[in-house]
Amino acid sequence: MLEQATLDKIWQAVLGEMELIVGRASFTTWFPNTKILSIEDGKATVKVPSDFSKQWLGQKYNKHIIDSIRNFCSDVKSVDYVIVSEKQSRKSLPDNVKRKTLNGIDESLKAHHYSPQDSTGINPRYTFFSFIVGSNNALAEAAARAVADQLGKKFNPLFIYGGVGLGKTHLLQAIGNEVIAKKKNLKAKYITTEDFAKELVDSIRKGKTLEFKEKYRNIDVFLVDDIQFIGGKEKTQEEFFHTFNSLYQRGKQIVICSDRLPREIATLEERLCSRFEGGMMADISQPDLETRIAILDTKAREKGVEIDQEVLGYIASYKQNNIRELEGILNKFIATCQLQDYDFSVKTAKTVLASEISASQKRSITPTHIIKKVAKFFHLKSEELLGNSRRSEIVKPRQMAIYLMRKEANLSYPSIGGVFKKDHSTIMHSYSKIKDLIRRDESALREVNSVRDYLYRKN
Ligand code: ADP
Ligand code: MG
Repeated sequence: MLEQATLDKIWQAVLGEMELIVGRASFTTWFPNTKILSIEDGKATVKVPSDFSKQWLGQKYNKHIIDSIRNFCSDVKSVDYVIVSEKQSRKSLPDNVKRKTLNGIDESLKAHHYSPQDSTGINPRYTFFSFIVGSNNALAEAAARAVADQLGKKFNPLFIYGGVGLGKTHLLQAIGNEVIAKKKNLKAKYITTEDFAKELVDSIRKGKTLEFKEKYRNIDVFLVDDIQFIGGKEKTQEEFFHTFNSLYQRGKQIVICSDRLPREIATLEERLCSRFEGGMMADISQPDLETRIAILDTKAREKGVEIDQEVLGYIASYKQNNIRELEGILNKFIATCQLQDYDFSVKTAKTVLASEISASQKRSITPTHIIKKVAKFFHLKSEELLGNSRRSEIVKPRQMAIYLMRKEANLSYPSIGGVFKKDHSTIMHSYSKIKDLIRRDESALREVNSVRDYLYRKN
C-alpha cells in the first residue's frame, strides 16, 4: 500500500495536469479540498468535499483523472469519489502525515488549496508578481498595470491578444487580483466568453434575463476572456454589446482577451469590432528562450523546488509557442523526480521529454477529426471543406486543414489527396501556401496555432 506522502505527491501532479486541462475557472470550482486517500487493487479512492464535486469529478472529469493517475500507477482502472466534509477531514489528518511530506510538496499542495471559487472568478495565483516580463509581453504587461492603477481612465477597453498559452489569462487575472488587493470597494468580475454565453442562455430559459442584465451592469472592472468564442453567437453578441455600452458609459473598466485581433474573429458584428478597436490593443507574442527559462524557474519556485538553469533550459527548448504545455512538462518532470527520488537532472528531463514526444505522436489525429474540427473552428460544414468551392472563406480553411494533416497527422500528399479527391500537386500547392503565409504574417501564424490547439481540445 502506498504511503499518504506518496499519494499526496501523485495527487499534486494530477491536480497540476487537471488545472491545465479543465481551465482555471472550473479548476477552482471543483478541485479544492480534494485528495487521494488510497490506491488499492486498481482502485483509487479520492476524497471530495461535496456532492457537487463528486458529480463533476465522477462524471465529467473521471476519464482525465484516471488517465492522469495512470501516469504514475499504471494499474489504476477506476476511481471512487467519497464525500468527506472539511471538518471531518481536518480531524482525521494526523500531524505526522503533514510532517512527512516534503517541504516542496507541502507548498505546492497549499497553492492548490485556496478557498473555493467565489463569484469574482479570480484565482489568487495569477498576479503581476508571478508574471515574468520579457520583450514578448512587455507592452501588454505595462498596459495591464496602467489599467489596474487608473481604472476606467487610461486605456478603455484594453484588448490583449496573442497565441494560445502565452499568458493572456494570467494578465487578465492579475488585474483582478490587483483590484481585490488595493480597491476593496470595487467589484471585479472575471468570466470567459463561453460562460457568459451559457449564463445568458440559462437566464433566458429560466425567464431571468433582468437579473442577468442587472448582475453584469453592476460591475466596476469587467474582465472578459477568450472573446473569439463570441463569433457566430448572435444573441450573446447583442447582450454583450449592451453590457459593454452600459459599463463604458459609466467609466467602468473593461479588459478583453482574445487569441486574435477583432477583425480576425469571423462573424463578429461590426459595432463590437469597432468598440474593441476603439481602446488600447496590446499583443503578446512568443517568448524567447531566456524568458521561457525565467518563467519555468518561477513556476518551479512556486512549488518550492529549485531546478538548475541547464535543466530548465533543456525543458524550455522543447517548445516556444506555448507556456502552458511547457508548464505541464515541468510538472511531470517535478513529479517524476519526487516520486522516484531522482535528482532534478538533465537525464531525467530527457526521459520525461522522450515520453512526452512519443505520447504526442501517439495522440491519434485522424483526417476525419481534422476536417470536423477545422470546419467547426471556422463555422463551416465538413462538406464545404471537402467540396470544390473557390470562395475565399472556404479556400483558406481548406488549405489549413491540408497543412495540419501534413504537420499533425504526418500524412503524405497523395493520401491527403485521397481525402479531398484532388491530385497530389494541388495538395502540395495548398500546403506551401499556408507554410509561406505563416512565415510572412504573424496573425496567420497565430491563427494556425489556434486551430492546432483546437484540434487537441478535449471537447
Ligand atoms: P493564455 O490565456 O494566453 O492561453 P495563460 O494565461 O493561461 O495563457 O498561460 C498559460 C500558463 O503559462 C499559465 O500557467 C501562466 O501562468 C503561464 N505563463 C504564461 N506567461 C507567463 C509569464 N510571462 N510569467 C509567468 N507565467 C506565465
Ligand atoms: Mg486563456
